[in-house]
Amino acid sequence: MAPQVIDHKGGVWSIAVPIPDNPLGHTLVHLLETDRGPVLIDTGWDDPDSWDALTAGITACGFDPADVHGVVITHHHPDHHGLSATMRETSGAWVAMHAADTALVRRSRAAEPGRWLDYVLGTLTAAGAPEDHLEPLRAARAAGRGRKPPGRRAALPDRAIEPGALLDLAGRRVRAIWTPGHTPGHVCLHLEETHPAQQSAPTAARPTGFGRLFSGDHLLPGITPHIGLYEDPDEVAPDLLDRGDPLGDYLDSLERIARLAPAEVLPAHQHAFPDAAGRVRELLAHHEERLTDLRRLLREPLTAWQLATSMQWNRPWEQIPAGSRTIAVSEAEAHLRHLVKRGHVEPVAGSAPVRYVAI
Ligand SMILES: [Zn+2]
Ligand SMILES: [Zn+2]
Repeated sequence: MAPQVIDHKGGVWSIAVPIPDNPLGHTLVHLLETDRGPVLIDTGWDDPDSWDALTAGITACGFDPADVHGVVITHHHPDHHGLSATMRETSGAWVAMHAADTALVRRSRAAEPGRWLDYVLGTLTAAGAPEDHLEPLRAARAAGRGRKPPGRRAALPDRAIEPGALLDLAGRRVRAIWTPGHTPGHVCLHLEETHPAQQSAPTAARPTGFGRLFSGDHLLPGITPHIGLYEDPDEVAPDLLDRGDPLGDYLDSLERIARLAPAEVLPAHQHAFPDAAGRVRELLAHHEERLTDLRRLLREPLTAWQLATSMQWNRPWEQIPAGSRTIAVSEAEAHLRHLVKRGHVEPVAGSAPVRYVAI
């Protein structure tokens, strides 16, 4: 199949790298031409077909995969960081990531098999998950199965992305914008160069705003990223109010992107789009609406599991498979955490599994 490559002009391309068996379809890996060779923003899923699509795409952009100088990773998820190790082996490229996501890569590389399942079982039990949901997980744990990491172990990055700093890219101006929420170390990358269409297009068709934003999973045109809890099970603060608030971080990071006002957003899924601030407004409104709905549901005390079963999803709860239910509960917990932080909801004293109620 011919590589799916878009020339975004001004030394920027996107390469569609397929994600096997996933409704998202593909990751858009961006290639940035620098004076020391091409630099990739994300690499794609670790799979032979995906690797073929990536290398064919780099070639179609007019470069040799062996010349890739560096890899900048927006966040540690396998559809973004999966092929980084293979890329590094092929070209000697450096791999850069924010320290908070590098910590997650290090943690998962070091984890014994089964530790992840222990964590999932612990959090689901505390969330009030019913026996029929826990039983298959316990059986898997007893059979010695742990989380199977996709493909090889994720590459340990060799450079840190510093929030607010310009990346060391010869001949290009790219600033790292820390946007925690979807993951603790998610970064967007602001290409601080005049948009090519602002030089060439007729005046009326010229985009407004400054530069282009590689937004990873933080800002997508038609979907909202998953926001769950990702704290290290060994480092969970005893007091609820001392724990992290990924949804709050995400909403704050959205506002930061709106203030940046880039002329165009180049996300890691779906397609490029112009109005970052407009999309941020939509997402903030969507989340406010959802939080209001949850406060209504929480007039009666509910566990995180009960809340998840009552929330609006893209299909009825009965049709959501077990693995996705686990993710949905994590999303419900992130919302509960945020409502507790805002002082809108509180845990019911002495309840186990803990139930939450609107104040
Ligand atoms: Zn992601
Ligand atoms: Zn993604």
